[in-house]
Parts: sequence; C-alpha cells; structure tokens
Amino acid sequence: MLGVAKRSDAFGDVGLLDRPQPRARPDSVVLRTAAAGICGTDLHIFRNEYRVTPPVIMGHEVCGFVVETGDGVDPALVGRRFVAETFHSTCGRCRHCRTGRTNLCPDRKSIGSHVDGAMAPFVEVPLVNLHPAPEAMSDAACSLAEPVACVTNSLYGEMPHVEPGDEVLVVGPGAIGLIAAQVARVLGGRVTVRGTERDRLRLDAAERLGFAVSVAGDALEQERFDVAVECSGNSHGYADALRFLGRAGHLAQMGLSGGDSTLPMDLVCYRELTITSGFASNPRSWNRAMKLMHAGSLDLQSLVSEIVPLSAWESAFDRSFAAGGIKFVIDPRLD
Ligand SMILES: [Zn+2]
Ligand SMILES: [Zn+2]
Repeated sequence: MLGVAKRSDAFGDVGLLDRPQPRARPDSVVLRTAAAGICGTDLHIFRNEYRVTPPVIMGHEVCGFVVETGDGVDPALVGRRFVAETFHSTCGRCRHCRTGRTNLCPDRKSIGSHVDGAMAPFVEVPLVNLHPAPEAMSDAACSLAEPVACVTNSLYGEMPHVEPGDEVLVVGPGAIGLIAAQVARVLGGRVTVRGTERDRLRLDAAERLGFAVSVAGDALEQERFDVAVECSGNSHGYADALRFLGRAGHLAQMGLSGGDSTLPMDLVCYRELTITSGFASNPRSWNRAMKLMHAGSLDLQSLVSEIVPLSAWESAFDRSFAAGGIKFVIDPRLD
C-alpha cells in the first residue's frame, strides 16, 4: 500500500512509498484510516527537526474504522470507529511508564515516527490505545483528538493551570493554539489569541471562535496576563509570552522551534514566573481530551481547512508550511 513516508534521513525526503499492508498482532487492531491530520510535528519531521526511524509512514493523528482484530481482541469491534493514542510501544518498566507518563518513556515508539503511521489506507495500533470516536463529530474533527490530548497534557498538571477569571494569552494561532484557547476558555479563562500578520486567516478563525485577537507588534499591556500558552514555536513568540505575563504568572510552553532561542529569562526571576510544558500526550491527558470532545465542549470542525486524498499530500504539506490554513487532513478513501 502507498503511504506518505519519511523515506530516508535526507532533508525533506518525504513522499509516497510502497509499504507492506499491516496485519493485526495479538492485542492490536488494524484501522482503515478515515482521517489523518497533518501536524506541526510532521513538518518538523520533514525538516529533520524531529527524531524518526526512516523509512516510516507518517501520521499520528488518526480516526479510523476497525477492519481486523488480533488474538485477544473482540472481533465485534470490526466496523467501529475509533481514535488512537500515538505510542505503539513503551518499555512498561521505567518509572514514567509505571506512573502513567508513557510520553516520557525513553524507549517509546510512536506511530508516524518509529512505526508506520496513519497517512496510509491502513494502520495497526494497540487495542489499549483506542478511544471510541464521539458520534456527533466528523472523521476529520475526530482526528484532532491527538492535538487536544497534547493540549490537555500541557494545560493540566495535578490541577489545571488556568483558573476561572484568569487572563490567558495564547501565542500562535495554529491548530494547537486554537485548541489551547478553547480548553483555556472551558477552564474559565478569558482568552486573547496573538499571531503575526502571516497568521491573518488563523486570527480570523480565532475571532469567529469568539476570542479577542492581537497581532505581533500591537501593544499589549505588559504584565497583563495570568497564564500564557506558547504555541508558536518562534523565539519572538516565546519572548512575547514572557513579557506579557504578570507577576507569579504561568507559562505553558507547547511550541517547538527546532533550534535554540534567545529569551528574556531574567523576567522569570523578577516576576517569579513558572514555566511548565507538555510533551505529546499520555493516557491521563487522553482521558481529559475525550471527556471534552464527548461533551461537545470544543469546536474542532472549524479548524479543519481541507480534507485531501493521499495523492494531494504535497500541496497540503506546502500549505501547512505556509500557514495557508489551520489543519489539513488526509483521507485515503478519497484516492
Ligand atoms: Zn500531532
Ligand atoms: Zn518506559
């Protein structure tokens, strides 16, 4: 079967590649991919900024229908629609695995980076990773469950980082930023979304979702915000997030720049700022994400800019690079 793959370690060596069709293994299923989102991580993989094991089919944001069940899996699952967590295997023994923080396992192997992912007609995933897709949501919207779980991983520690009434600044209005803004609002935050002129289309989407918006270069009151969620992956964005945070403020860092950045770190001391982050997702953050989605608390559909067949992967990647949309989703059934 053909899938969109990182074919080698060479920069930008991404394209359609013929890979063996996966078979269900014990305690796993094969999904017929109905939607595979193109994520910022995929763009980093394209540019060799994220560690992968090529050749590998990309795609870790998946919604699909079970077509085959392995030993130990109820065959009645065939035909049902699921979203799937991303870790194909972890060691199961390290302290992070044993405390449910599987995203921090040094031996984790994820779909789309270390084992074949969802930008193909079929993908094999462990049964334990499946979550029923919310019935009211489209396949494409459901494929955003993974970014939602990344956001809930970053916006909750033992307690949510946003409290009712908090002024929240979200820097970077891509899919992650617009999900973070919605989750922060669910938590009671009063949210402002900030981007650059290049993000105009995404800032318009933020406005339609009911958020205040601000464009880089616009004056925002210094020290105004209680919480900043950095989703831009740009050093200017990092600096903005720190500057506009008030004393004892909290920065949740989600963006990745792919390199080193220069930051006004003194502000962290002067204002006693707290910086936390979240890498990917874990079972606990998926649980929170699925609750929000099943409750209908998030508008994910309006973040889907276009659904394309596998054969149109390149233009969808190009437009993702160019911020020419919010979320592009591949549906291999369209090929
Ligand atoms: Zn993702
Ligand atoms: Zn482990």
